[in-house]
Amino acid sequence: MPAVPALSYSSFRTYQECPLRWRFLYVDKLPEAPRGYFTFGRVVHSLLEQLVAPLVVPSARRAGENDRQRTLDEWHPSAGAASPAGHLMTTDELLAAYDREWSNEGYTSAEEESRYRALGRDILLKYHDFLVRERPLPVAVEEHLEARWDGIPVHGYIDRIDRTPAGGLEIVDYKTSRELTNDDARDSDQLSLYQVLVESNYAAPVHGLTLYHLRSLTPLHTAPRERAALAGLHDRMGSAMDGIRAEAFEPTPGRQCSRCDFQDRCPEFRAVPPADGERLRALVDRFESLRGEENRLEGELRRTAEELHRAAEQLGVHRVPGTRSVAVRRREEAWQYSLDNVRPLLDQHGLSPRVASGTPEEVRRLVRDASVDPEVRRRVAETGARRVKWYWELEAENGR
Ligand code: SF4
Repeated sequence: MPAVPALSYSSFRTYQECPLRWRFLYVDKLPEAPRGYFTFGRVVHSLLEQLVAPLVVPSARRAGENDRQRTLDEWHPSAGAASPAGHLMTTDELLAAYDREWSNEGYTSAEEESRYRALGRDILLKYHDFLVRERPLPVAVEEHLEARWDGIPVHGYIDRIDRTPAGGLEIVDYKTSRELTNDDARDSDQLSLYQVLVESNYAAPVHGLTLYHLRSLTPLHTAPRERAALAGLHDRMGSAMDGIRAEAFEPTPGRQCSRCDFQDRCPEFRAVPPADGERLRALVDRFESLRGEENRLEGELRRTAEELHRAAEQLGVHRVPGTRSVAVRRREEAWQYSLDNVRPLLDQHGLSPRVASGTPEEVRRLVRDASVDPEVRRRVAETGARRVKWYWELEAENGR
């Protein structure tokens, strides 16, 4: 296998979902069928890049920290100032560029294509308006960043990086998806990885992370991740990297299979050879009917045991002779504890680690331990409840 490629967020996610699909995409480099929503996302991102690019002043990179951030007043033609880096497209120019870049690749019908096309137009016009109104201070747009994150080579394309008023950086990731919530921003591994990439490449600190919902022009802001949160992602990416280095490419079927283009190559979806089809079909049919019978018998067995138990309770007997064997009623006791009420007490005495899993054995050991405060033991013991379970066994008639 050639050198292990750096992990992007999407390649990491692909490996997590299915290592075999990762191999098809990143080692075998098999193409995927085009899909309309990917084409749409690509075109809209490209137009947003062209639109924002004239604003960018790459002022905060480690190399070139002395550059000054330019503001909209300085480059927008309507402000009357010459812009050394170009000008903001007019809406007419923007829509003309959109028409030039539009691609019909992957749409399932003309109706779907025209719906997406109108949506893209709407997003771009609203975004143009936002740029004029809000005057963001971008230091980068669609920037490719690379880093070695404690031994893991990582990379990513970042939609926009803004300078904040306090001199830090805000990372912005555009989303064309239908729904987006604050939780998505808070839990986004993608934003976490981008924070790592920006911190490795920029001198200024990261002050915020934003998922930008383009359909509603809603920025979902979230604070930069703490070190502990980043460590969790690092562990998961490290495991993925270890798996890739070890060439561990097992298929992992799941919901992702429905959008996987490689089912015809995947052992999970390998077809039964025609010569064996008839024999295996008969086996599956037999298995299915036995499974149904098993379920029916399980229900019947449970109901019979319950009826036998009620009769035995009424009569106060434990051994009931049948024609060929004797049914013997056995008793099993189990203790269960609910520790929620005494947790603070356990914490106070430093005893919580001793009942970390709350198993009855763990709790009973604590209750019997004479070195533990008697009051604590009494209160823990009081949370216990004895559960009695009856069941039946069959013995031969002669008692053996
Ligand atoms: S079909 Fe499913 S299991 Fe097979 S490679 Fe694709 S995602 Fe993986």
